[in-house]
Amino acid sequence: MEGGNFTRAYDAVVVGGSLAGAATAIHLAEAGHSVVLLEHSHEYKRKACGEGLFPQGVRELGRLGLLPAVLEQSVRLAGVRFHAGGAVAAATMEGGGGLGVRRKWLDPLVLSRAESAGVEVRRGVTARALLPDGPRLRGVATDSGDVLARVVVGADGLNSRIRRLAGLDVKRRGSRYGISGHVRLNRPLEPFVDVHFERGYELYITPVGKQEANVALLLRKPAMHQFASRLHARYGMVLRAHTALDDACELLDEPLAAGPFVTSCTRPWRANLVLVGDAAGFFDGITGEGMSVALVSARFCAAAVDSYLGAGDYAAFREYAAHRSGLVRNSNMLARVSLTLGSRPPLARMAVRNLQRQPRTFEKLVAINSGEASLRSVRPRDLMALATGR
Ligand SMILES: Cc1cc2nc3c(=O)[nH]c(=O)nc-3n(C[C@H](O)[C@H](O)[C@H](O)COP(=O)(O)OP(=O)(O)OC[C@H]3O[C@@H](n4cnc5c(N)ncnc54)[C@H](O)[C@@H]3O)c2cc1C
Repeated sequence: MEGGNFTRAYDAVVVGGSLAGAATAIHLAEAGHSVVLLEHSHEYKRKACGEGLFPQGVRELGRLGLLPAVLEQSVRLAGVRFHAGGAVAAATMEGGGGLGVRRKWLDPLVLSRAESAGVEVRRGVTARALLPDGPRLRGVATDSGDVLARVVVGADGLNSRIRRLAGLDVKRRGSRYGISGHVRLNRPLEPFVDVHFERGYELYITPVGKQEANVALLLRKPAMHQFASRLHARYGMVLRAHTALDDACELLDEPLAAGPFVTSCTRPWRANLVLVGDAAGFFDGITGEGMSVALVSARFCAAAVDSYLGAGDYAAFREYAAHRSGLVRNSNMLARVSLTLGSRPPLARMAVRNLQRQPRTFEKLVAINSGEASLRSVRPRDLMALATGR
């Protein structure tokens, strides 16, 4: 439904209709709550994303009953390959593998699933302000009128306005950016996410079709300046000059930029407001975990809201905060390691060469990153393997 007035009060208002918002709304509606979801854009709008979904995200789509439909439109991913200075390390993904899936297809699917679960979806509505009621909120103000609700869920992405309005923003500017677009190649792609560590940037290639790939560049601010005002031309130049792609690679759309990351919050809730997905914090695109974290944490967020609506105390939000930080801890730590490697090419080459010799260690790290294994599974011999290749 487009815009319109809001004449009733809801159990929950969800701001943002992408993966985190739509999945939270589905779980809440299925728990019997009245939910309205506000999405700023009138129709699906493309966003910068590498479009590689790791196994726990795939399982979450299964929980939402969306897997059969998603499988029809996506490419199975068997694993991840790291490339640096001529060395290549490959790891298969545990937990049934991942998917390369276009957001233009996935996001509307999850949102329409929310509608069929009974969520009142209002497109073309922007949340502008929070409506205070003592220490709590009574809803949000939008450009289509006030929306009254017992709980406000902020699922409005990386540069969350809800997070800022709630005073939960950490005032620290990140220095990393991402640019992504789609290309067609003149050859079929292998079912791997290929990550190339280059001087000054990392290049991610994720198959999303038989001969179509999403290509994402992750880079720091100084390198990002070179793309200013000529994003398309410069992105095309970097891709065509890269040995993993080729002169024949055809750009299929305008590249899109996002950032800066890191974004974070002091905590993902305040009184009867709770944050989910990137709004609750995003460390870096390098681990390729953002969509999975959005989908998995949506389920825990909805459980916390359900419990708050029943008992009226904040204990469930505290538990959600602890759960969420457990969910991202390992991948954030591995992101830090990858960023260190990315900024020191000789170190990246050495680490990739060592992982090439010790694929079990690489597989373990990929499993830890995607929540399939615990950090405790790392043995001293894995650290030795990473450092020496033996
Ligand atoms: C370059 C790059 C590469 C990435 N690669 C990967 C990858 O390969 N795999 C992976 O899993 N993750 C990846 N990610 C991360 C992933 O894209 C995000 O983690 C994911 O999109 C988070 O979903 P979300 O629902 O929290 O937020 P978003 O997808 O950002 O959605 C927020 C929604 O809120 C709406 N909104 C915003 N403000 C308002 C408002 N005031 N009122 C109403 N609506 C509003 C927006 O229109 C939008 O639809 C990447 C990110 C980047 C930048």
